[in-house]
Amino acid sequence: GQEAPRPRVIILCSPCMGHLIPLVELARRLVTDHGLAATLLFTPATPTPSQEYLAVAAMVPDGIDLVTLPGPPADALPPSASVRECLAHAIVSNIPRAHQIIQSLAASAPIAAMVVDVGFKSASGIAAELGVPVYMYFPSTLTALSLIRQFPELDATITGEFRDATEPIRLPGCMPIMASDLPSPMLADRSSEVYAKFLHGAREYSKVDGFLVNSFPELEPAVVNSVSGLHHQSVHAIGPLVWTRPAVDDKDHECIKWLDRQPSGSVVYVSLGSGGTLTWQQTAELALGLEMSQRRFIWVVKRPDDDPLGCGSFFGARMGVDEEVFDFLPEGFVERTREVGLLVPSWAPQTAILSHSSIGCFITHCGWNSVLEGLLNGIPLIAWPLYAEQRINAAMLEGQLGVATRVKLTDGGLVLKEEVARVITCAMLNGDGETLRKKIHKLQNRALHALSSTGSSVHAVAQLSDLWKSGSWQI
Ligand code: UDP
Repeated sequence: GQEAPRPRVIILCSPCMGHLIPLVELARRLVTDHGLAATLLFTPATPTPSQEYLAVAAMVPDGIDLVTLPGPPADALPPSASVRECLAHAIVSNIPRAHQIIQSLAASAPIAAMVVDVGFKSASGIAAELGVPVYMYFPSTLTALSLIRQFPELDATITGEFRDATEPIRLPGCMPIMASDLPSPMLADRSSEVYAKFLHGAREYSKVDGFLVNSFPELEPAVVNSVSGLHHQSVHAIGPLVWTRPAVDDKDHECIKWLDRQPSGSVVYVSLGSGGTLTWQQTAELALGLEMSQRRFIWVVKRPDDDPLGCGSFFGARMGVDEEVFDFLPEGFVERTREVGLLVPSWAPQTAILSHSSIGCFITHCGWNSVLEGLLNGIPLIAWPLYAEQRINAAMLEGQLGVATRVKLTDGGLVLKEEVARVITCAMLNGDGETLRKKIHKLQNRALHALSSTGSSVHAVAQLSDLWKSGSWQI
């Protein structure tokens, strides 16, 4: 007779590469290791797919149904709309369509569970309608999850503005969090719309049955116990979920060929993720600082942007990025550094770069995926946090784990060229660089162990898959 259709997990992903990449990896593991089917619904933020998206979509393994929902028309929002507004619009406008697709999938095969990323939390009602459990994919640490889960209570108990707090926030099991490291919406006036929206979003976290967190217990052991069971929701540390398999053609990429010609451990890799941008002035300081360090470097360069949150290039296509033109860099910089530096416009094969033996350190915006990729490759980090929860990540990497040096800002919020050169020297030379390296190698081993057949990541995904396949959550 005909084989019964495999139970299917539906994954809803918002327009962020930092969510799509680990969710593809989760889907791959559910399909290849646990015999589930997986449909990943991705919603773009632009009418035509971005270069980044195409690069990722091309590497999605067979067996995963990647469905790209339509992006909003170019004129859906005024040009002045912020990245956050674009993101919210792209997600909300696609929920009815996602709903339809899920209903028709449910009509032809059993749905085992739904996974929504943080952006799609308002779609969790679809799961309730189908009578299946819904989990939120949280793309960062247990510490950050703990903060957001407890934000409504903090809001109810704290007086005054968060930004004026002189004492750090102390949550059970977590490192103390300085007010200046909080996500920017928490630092806004508590009467403002941006604060209210963030608080509303945090309250919506209570709608899901549990959380899939891209962290592993050995990274933040005390938090696992304190956050599990909080508000009767389960927490599964399924990380580190990263893109561990470089695409076949990465080895022919210009970056990799260039790295092949450089001495071992000699190159500074600079990338501020898929969305990170710097102002014109900051871009110039970074360029001059790289030059001043007299090191070799690969820099994934984004066109400067005055977005106050530092994430202006999130949707490259919207920004009209002009590839290959580096006319915004300081005069003569490109010529003077031609022998030692490689400039890559917009997007580079990051996991292949980080696993190359020529890389010596990584200047990162502390997007959590980038951090995990750096850890798994044992690369000392230079923390240059920009937006979202990145300042908390930077504090954890530097203060709690000792695997990063964090850039210091001037009172005006600028990282000067001398500071860029200083942190590079710290991370690359004997001295601090050695200490960072020793600590990161320890963490690298733990991360690799989490991914081994007896490790926590494999165990956590297996446990979830068994639960979802059994349907015993219905009891
Ligand atoms: N990435 C990449 N090439 C780039 C920039 C980013 O492949 O030029 C990948 C990177 O490896 C990571 C993801 O995009 O997996 C970015 O996620 P992260 O959490 O670091 O930052 P975000 O872009 O979400 O701020």
